[in-house]
Amino acid sequence: MNNFYYRFMYGRNGVDKLNVFFAVVLLILGVVSIFVHDTARLVIQVLEAVVFILFLFRFLSKDISRRQKENERFVKLTSSVEKYCRRKYRQLTDKNYKYFKCPKCSATLRVPRHRGNVTVTCPVCRNKFDKKT
Ligand SMILES: [Zn+2]
Repeated sequence: MNNFYYRFMYGRNGVDKLNVFFAVVLLILGVVSIFVHDTARLVIQVLEAVVFILFLFRFLSKDISRRQKENERFVKLTSSVEKYCRRKYRQLTDKNYKYFKCPKCSATLRVPRHRGNVTVTCPVCRNKFDKKT
């Protein structure tokens, strides 16, 4: 970026996690608005305008301490969702282990893949059951 940008952005909030979230929401709304018509499209366009104004306001804001507090609240609120998604993604892309829930206590267990039919003993409740890996 050029010098003007840095001078303009000096002392302003800029991009944080909450603003990235707003940008992603804008992108999704933009895509959705292609496929809907009439009232639904109008609602989405109003939402887009609101989110865009919020984004711009937070991006250009000079009240950085207040924006940081908002961002911290957002990060705190969404961290469990983020953790859940990360864990799910890791489980889905794991080539070495297969993940599943114990049918009795629903603890998450993993077994090495490609071992054929195995009898699994749940380490939490000692429940034994067969599983194809
Ligand atoms: Zn169990």
